[in-house]
Amino acid sequence: MAYDQNNIFAKILRGEIPCKKVHETAHSLAFLDINPQAPTHILVIPKGPYVSYDDFAAKASAEEIVDFVQATGQVARDAGVAESGYRLLFNHGPDSHQEVPHLHVHILAGRPLGPMLV
Ligand code: C5P
Repeated sequence: MAYDQNNIFAKILRGEIPCKKVHETAHSLAFLDINPQAPTHILVIPKGPYVSYDDFAAKASAEEIVDFVQATGQVARDAGVAESGYRLLFNHGPDSHQEVPHLHVHILAGRPLGPMLV
């Protein structure tokens, strides 16, 4: 699947639409989800044009991947949920109901989340 330069997260990265930024690094951006599903619901995205997890895993540089993984851990620590716990969720592709075609990980926390639903 080709990367759509007009997807909503590409627009956020270009500053064309606002977001509530919580963290930024050389290769990653984290912001509050506009429709939170838990008391803490933060999205972390790479700045590069990656459609999905598979696209990122296959094409991103080691530097981008390390940056993304470290940024995600830092955001969770900064949000104060590293001790109480959090869930990381990637939706990849149609069956997962991925809505935005720019890779993102959901950080969900702030209450007991229960067993993972499939
Ligand atoms: O994994 P999925 O693609 O379904 O999740 C997209 C997420 O992006 C949703 O949780 C939605 O609330 C969020 N979103 C956002 N800001 C936007 C558009 C969508 O936080 N402007």
